[in-house]
Amino acid sequence: MELGLQGKWALVCAASKGLGKGCAKALVREGVHVVITARGVEVLEATAAELRALNPAVDVRTVAGDITTPAGRAAALAACPQVDILVNNAGGPPPGDFRDWDRDAWIAALDANMLTPIELIKATVDAMAERGFGRVVNITSGAVKAPIDILGLSNGARSGLTGFVAGLARQPRLASRNVTINNLLPGPFDTDRLRATMQGAAAKSGRSIEAVMDERRALNPTRRFGTPDEFGALCAFVCSVHAGYLTGQNLLIDGGAYPGTF
Ligand code: NAP
Repeated sequence: MELGLQGKWALVCAASKGLGKGCAKALVREGVHVVITARGVEVLEATAAELRALNPAVDVRTVAGDITTPAGRAAALAACPQVDILVNNAGGPPPGDFRDWDRDAWIAALDANMLTPIELIKATVDAMAERGFGRVVNITSGAVKAPIDILGLSNGARSGLTGFVAGLARQPRLASRNVTINNLLPGPFDTDRLRATMQGAAAKSGRSIEAVMDERRALNPTRRFGTPDEFGALCAFVCSVHAGYLTGQNLLIDGGAYPGTF
């Protein structure tokens, strides 16, 4: 399917690895110029080289910085000639017990997983509406639909973003101008973050990481984890010209792990 994205510009946040990188790869394959961000310069540049090799016809720009800070966001926006596609992403908050979290822990989670996407949306959607095309994809989590006890900071902050987006996406001044805003909710995907979590669980239980990962795979109906490429393919479709009537939605991509009908 021709996605109709050739020549568009995308800002893909937190994209040197994992799900963000999967989205950047899928967009680059479709001829989209990208600005990718991450804090670590080395991996970011290596990813940029991979993207350029994937499609030499596109412009791939890098911005090293923390997207959860005003300076990081300003630099990312300045590097993108126009933002036709915005993929909001950042690291997830740490797991733990809510009894141990103080106000600073909550503010950090809200900054990263709620207020940063909202700031970037604020900086880009009205210009998208003027041009008559815009796609915002927020990478959230399956934990928004089925909260995970130890990820309370994530459950809370991402639910705040989800509620906000549900209202904003339905504003006629955006929706009627072909600007869509959707959330992608990943279940378990094989990324560094997932491996780090499994490593923690393995260390705690005295088992090998392979044993813990096998156990987690067995819990999923597909008996495997998702791949960043699969995630990126969904992102690219949601950004495509065919998806203009899809807005304000929470799209779960989890191998069927969520047990409900809806
Ligand atoms: P990952 O493999 O660890 O990759 C995270 C990427 O984000 C890296 O490129 C990292 O680079 C960058 N990054 C992190 N914090 C950043 C910041 N403050 N500013 C700029 N870049 C930043 O993680 P992932 O698995 O792709 O996860 C992406 C998001 O999806 C996270 O919010 C995660 O909680 C959520 N999620 C993941 C899963 C899963 O199974 N993988 C499931 C549900 C939800 P630097 O470290 O160099 O900055």
